[in-house]
Amino acid sequence: MTSSGRTREGPSRRGPVITVDGPAASGKSSTAREVARRLGIRHLDSGALYRALTYALLDEGVPQEEWVELEADDLESLQVQVEPTEEGIRIRHRDRPLDSELRTARVTARVSSLASVSAVRSWLLRRQREAARHGALVAEGRDMGSVVFPDADLKIFLVADLEERARRRLRERGEEEGPDAVRDEALRLARRDRDDETRSVAPLRKAEDAVEVDTTGLTLDEQVDRIVAMARGLTGSDAQI
Ligand code: C5P
Repeated sequence: MTSSGRTREGPSRRGPVITVDGPAASGKSSTAREVARRLGIRHLDSGALYRALTYALLDEGVPQEEWVELEADDLESLQVQVEPTEEGIRIRHRDRPLDSELRTARVTARVSSLASVSAVRSWLLRRQREAARHGALVAEGRDMGSVVFPDADLKIFLVADLEERARRRLRERGEEEGPDAVRDEALRLARRDRDDETRSVAPLRKAEDAVEVDTTGLTLDEQVDRIVAMARGLTGSDAQI
């Protein structure tokens, strides 16, 4: 936060913001959700917003080759609604809550292509910053510390070995961790990382002032403990949790 109390994200952010960025399956979602719960603050899963737009476009049958030409009006007409809740945000499509629909293989395979469209990123930027107007927040994604909340009070960048990340994803889905399955999942993750790192708008990268945490050999509890300890160590009346 600047000395005037204004942030580069707008004048009305309320409470500290902690950002958690990193590549696919680095442990962001479970870590950020648990950090928010332990600190008693809200959680923003920004990936879910990109997934919701992807879901809506697929649902409405908009051909993928047309996504690059999308403009704000087109996105508005998809009727993806983002509402604040006690825990974070709720996402609806045409008044229907979205949850497991966001994590299907169909959505996952296409979301990075939509995330590279600059009109999509600007449209979501406002909605993500809005989430910080309702109180302290743990925001997770790819560009939370570098673009969305450049003045965040604490920035974390999670990394983990590619093979370990592939195993985690298989475990999450209750699938076997055989060598072929691990290799195929690692290839899918590497492809998504490459798309996210090489896009021209808001590529996945560690913000200069972010703290890198390698989660390869850490349990979820250990990751959360480290981040909670850093958050509790924040000083200054604006930042204290
Ligand atoms: O985190 P999650 O896997 O749900 O994110 C899905 C996709 O959304 C990512 O692969 C990335 O392409 C995009 N994304 C993004 N910026 C964010 C969050 C997600 O580009 N802040």
